[in-house]
Amino acid sequence: MNLLEIETLTVLHRADGVETKLVHDLSYSVAAGETLAIVGESGSGKSLSALAIMGLLSPDLQIVSGSIRMDGTDMLDLTPEQMRKKRGRDVSMVFQEPMTSLNPVRTIGSQITESIEENLGLSKSDARARAISLLDQVGVADAERRLRQYPHHFSGGMRQRVMIAIALAATPKLIIADEPTTALDVTIQAQILDMMAEICRAQKTSLILITHNLGIVARYANRVNVMYGGRIVETGTAAEIYYTPHHPYTHGLLRSVPQLTQSRKEPLQPIMGNPADPFTKIAGCRFHPRCQFAQDRCRREMPQFDGKTACHFPLVSETREAS
Ligand code: SF4
Repeated sequence: MNLLEIETLTVLHRADGVETKLVHDLSYSVAAGETLAIVGESGSGKSLSALAIMGLLSPDLQIVSGSIRMDGTDMLDLTPEQMRKKRGRDVSMVFQEPMTSLNPVRTIGSQITESIEENLGLSKSDARARAISLLDQVGVADAERRLRQYPHHFSGGMRQRVMIAIALAATPKLIIADEPTTALDVTIQAQILDMMAEICRAQKTSLILITHNLGIVARYANRVNVMYGGRIVETGTAAEIYYTPHHPYTHGLLRSVPQLTQSRKEPLQPIMGNPADPFTKIAGCRFHPRCQFAQDRCRREMPQFDGKTACHFPLVSETREAS
């Protein structure tokens, strides 16, 4: 059964009388206990759609159509107060840079217990006991002492563990992790993603993992949505996306990630050009200026999503070797 269902969600940006669609007719679902990865470069709409789920869009952004249903409730029908309660209790978010989310002048303990008291209504001492147990769970040693410290006493990786503890405080049904480890070095990234995936699996929490790196999703995600230019351009199981990508953009993302089978001398092949600027009009397929397979039709006609991919000339014979 699906926990989250997003249907034809469209997000509009308004400034100086100019309207620009940044997310177009987005539809996807997340099952209970499932990990869905949303992959794309900056400007693809992946973070924006997550903020829409959280009800955290800035005032210049507006949802103009579609629905976001969680556990049968249309989130777009909720009042700001109802939405505030839903955040933290049912759905919570882990951002890329914990320093911008943690308050630098408050102890870690007060920031975790505040979330617990607010969402679970526990007493101060019970909230403190739960905070200690949460820090243990996310791998912060000597939790009792650490609760009395401030964010600047923690390394980047430890701060991200604290953010995950806050996200887990009320055992939400869904966690959205937006590039949760991008600012960390590779070894710490793997430790934190392993830990988060393990906790979500044990608690049957659904996870939306937003990343620009297709290399990390094969290990954690059940399914993958690849986004470009505010749209889903390919969807599939992690294995389908990784071994038989159909969209040239997915294929390009995979070729730009180092493979174990690749020799050190073999150069990586980045996708040429820059990600599509959402404020610049591009006729036809938004990926065509960067696509090595583009033909005339691509420059004229926007490809429709057929449930699997959105491309006039999907790759059929490109099958990657398992590494
Ligand atoms: Fe490339 Fe054309 Fe497919 Fe767009 S529609 S991804 S330009 S082949």
